Amino acid sequence: AGSGKFFVGGNWKCNGSKDSISKLVSDLNSAKLESDVDVVVAPPFVYIEQVKNSLTDRIEVSAQNCWTGKGGAFTGEISVEQLKDLGCKWVILGHSERRHIIGEDDQFIGKKAAYALGQGVGVIACIGELLEEREQGKTFDVCFQQLQAYADAVPSWDDIVIAYEPVWAIGTGKVATPEQAQEVHVAVRDWLQKNVSAEVASKTRIIYGGSVNGGNCAELAKQEDIDGFLVGGASLKGPEFATIINSVT
Ligand code: PEP
Repeated sequence: AGSGKFFVGGNWKCNGSKDSISKLVSDLNSAKLESDVDVVVAPPFVYIEQVKNSLTDRIEVSAQNCWTGKGGAFTGEISVEQLKDLGCKWVILGHSERRHIIGEDDQFIGKKAAYALGQGVGVIACIGELLEEREQGKTFDVCFQQLQAYADAVPSWDDIVIAYEPVWAIGTGKVATPEQAQEVHVAVRDWLQKNVSAEVASKTRIIYGGSVNGGNCAELAKQEDIDGFLVGGASLKGPEFATIINSVT
């Protein structure tokens, strides 16, 4: 971990029920968490209110997506204003499942990021390459192109956390090695330095996601440029998520 405050997000994806979420919240409420870590959980939209009403204030709540602008005649969408109304401080954008399963492109994601930031909601901005792109030596190109789209759209980097999530590692149990993750995190930081500013490069937190669990988090957290984690599957288990939060070194 670097000098910025460690940041751990739990992405619950499209999982859970009122009952299972009530159990998870109660496990999180009773967990002992390192004080020097920002902790955020992202429930499905329909459970945000339940979580806000029952979860300790120690943990902030994020959405997993948002609409690109003000609400209105956009059937099935959720606006940033509505998320704020429920007390969400963050939104995850550009997640690989939305890019590759739903088909969101860089410009659409950039528009959402700009709107959310303009409304004072922080953005967990995901980037990451597919396995075939890594095998073709295109990892940096893909990540830089995704970063460029955010850079072209956003008014400021103050409330952005970058999540590097290699697609081949998400939900597969195939975690990146600490060296593989560190290599990309350094490249991302260099890119920010050259293309945004030295200040943004040094203060932006770059977190890793992709099959992080209670067993592999400590080694990853030792890397200088890994400033936290975005956790999917393991964030559904309260005690294991607590272990990951407490892995900061
Ligand atoms: C994610 O969805 O952001 C993620 C990293 O998932 P998992 O931890 O399950 O690989």
